[in-house]
Amino acid sequence: MPKALCIGELLIDFVSTTPDVTLAEAPGFVKAPGGAPANVAVGLAKLGVDAGFIGKVGADAFGDFLREVLQQNSVDTAYLIADETSRTTLAFVATRSDGMKDITFYRHPGADIQLAPDEIDIGYIQSAELLHYGSVSLSHSPSREATLHAIRSAKAGGARLSYDPNLRLMLWDNADNAKRWIWEVMPYADVVKISDEEWEFVTGDADFEEGIKRILGLGVKLLVVTLGERGCYYTNGFADGFIDGFTVDVVDTLGAGDAFVAAMLAQLRQYMDLTALEQEQLDPIMRYANAAGALATQKVGVIPSLPTPSEIESFL
Ligand code: ADP
Repeated sequence: MPKALCIGELLIDFVSTTPDVTLAEAPGFVKAPGGAPANVAVGLAKLGVDAGFIGKVGADAFGDFLREVLQQNSVDTAYLIADETSRTTLAFVATRSDGMKDITFYRHPGADIQLAPDEIDIGYIQSAELLHYGSVSLSHSPSREATLHAIRSAKAGGARLSYDPNLRLMLWDNADNAKRWIWEVMPYADVVKISDEEWEFVTGDADFEEGIKRILGLGVKLLVVTLGERGCYYTNGFADGFIDGFTVDVVDTLGAGDAFVAAMLAQLRQYMDLTALEQEQLDPIMRYANAAGALATQKVGVIPSLPTPSEIESFL
């Protein structure tokens, strides 16, 4: 059974073949496997961590393609379920030069939200040391309840929980609901990664210090705010620091955050108590994760750009 599990969305990203255009302007798209938690599962597997993915695709050609991609990357697919009644979710993506993404989801409904609580195998979840989740699977039922069930089961089983809200506002009926559910699952997390673009939405009008206090006050042990090319900020309430990013010629920023999360989680596995970690332990982990994030910007598509340990080491 895999040691690290990721639950949530697995879908096809149709990525614009032309950079720096809107979706309306894009002349064509290439098919790429996507979904942040699935990317993290592949990222972990590429880093040598025994990983599995829990989620749903349609019983269709795109679902078969996605299963194959996970399997080719050594991700366990025992709980990747093929839904007979809905289609694999699709997203069309164009990335502008300032890093902003123009995204439209085809999910009315998509298979990813059909994962049901009774399809969660508690034994599978509780045999893992780590569960990583996001908020996209919380936007609709029954995947909301399935995700909550998995999170609570993992917590009860003593696993480390990792959370990247990965805000996709257009998938929610309204912003208040998105915020409510994003916060609802925060207290379960040991590690939280939020990007600077999401920070304001998530923490509202709280200033930076206040936002940090609010999140750590829920029992979160390590909070990381990623800052794009500027790197990241981390704090465990005891040690903190800004770690500069690497300067690279960017090809495609999609998935940088997922590469970052996978690399950070892989490195954190060697430590039991995250609150006791000092700057001298956390700084190199965040530098390593920044390197993984930078490497992920070097190729088109997310999965092909997720780095191996030797790629990260030679980059560093
Ligand atoms: P997300 O992809 O979730 O929006 P970020 O854009 O903050 O998250 O990227 C995550 C990490 O990837 C950053 O902390 C940084 O280490 C790396 N990264 C992202 N964009 C760049 C870039 N343009 N150049 C170098 N590193 C980058």
